[in-house]
Amino acid sequence: MSLLSVIVPCYNEEENVSLFYEELMKNEAWFKDRGVELEVLYIDDGSEDKTVSEAKKLRERDERVHLISFSRNFGKEAAMYAGLENSAGDYAVLMDVDLQDPPSLLPEMFSWLEQGFDSVATRRVSRKGEPPVRSFFARMFYRLMKKISRTEIMDGARDYRLMTRQMVDAILSMQEYNRFTKGIFGWVGFRTKWLEYENVERAKGETKWNFWKLFLYSLDGIAAFSTAPLMLASVMGVFFCVLAFLMIVFIIVRKLMFGDPVSGWPSLVCIILMTSGVQFFCTGILGQYLAKTYMEVKRRPIYLVREKL
Ligand code: UDP
Ligand code: MG
Repeated sequence: MSLLSVIVPCYNEEENVSLFYEELMKNEAWFKDRGVELEVLYIDDGSEDKTVSEAKKLRERDERVHLISFSRNFGKEAAMYAGLENSAGDYAVLMDVDLQDPPSLLPEMFSWLEQGFDSVATRRVSRKGEPPVRSFFARMFYRLMKKISRTEIMDGARDYRLMTRQMVDAILSMQEYNRFTKGIFGWVGFRTKWLEYENVERAKGETKWNFWKLFLYSLDGIAAFSTAPLMLASVMGVFFCVLAFLMIVFIIVRKLMFGDPVSGWPSLVCIILMTSGVQFFCTGILGQYLAKTYMEVKRRPIYLVREKL
């Protein structure tokens, strides 16, 4: 028998915990036929509601259910890492507990692994039920990333991914503190099969991501997988030097030909404001990378466990 670890990050999801279990176990027989056992790892990311007791209830019924409870909310990235680190399976799959990653897709995903792929990833082809502004910025993010990063990050990619132990170990070998899993998946490589599906709305409860959080997360993603913004500072520096040189030439020529008296105070102010703006902007970018480096250098643990069953 081989083992498939199902890793489910949960943050305040009391209504979804058992719902997810029921849906998942509909595939139990299919996997048993292929000699594959299931185990479920609920990663409680510091929930304040009854998520933990719901998971414990399931564990009383079924010892294949495991629970890791964090000491506080560390974020979904940390939860996914903890899940992979504590999984024992020959295969592992990351899934949301809100059923937006349909468990009914699992047999098809597993079939692709049997055909020799190392990982099966999923992406949403529609963003039905999502605010249009959010979809627009999400698309912009993926287009930008395509241009500035060498790591492949697929538009609409979900974290819903099935992979072999070899790939899990590769991901775990990336010990960085600023984790951006969508980029990490691409970075480690391996043969990946992409499956597409229509967006599914969450079963119960509300999304933990508002626009601002997503925006900050996208900046994390950019800083984690591209150094292009640092390049931007140098490029702008060169651009403004050239511009200044041209203007100096222009002013000297004008003075020699027309003997222009002193004027141009307003334009001077505009130029000073603009260049100092650009300088602050570039220092800001630098600061972002420095801050990330600072956090990495501290080598703090990615998560802390309060309880493990
Ligand atoms: N989640 C988590 N920690 C957090 C936020 C979310 O573990 O700080 C989990 C959440 O319980 C869910 C998954 O991550 O299983 C996806 O979250 P959500 O559905 O809120 O995001 P969305 O699907 O709207 O992008
Ligand atoms: Mg969701």
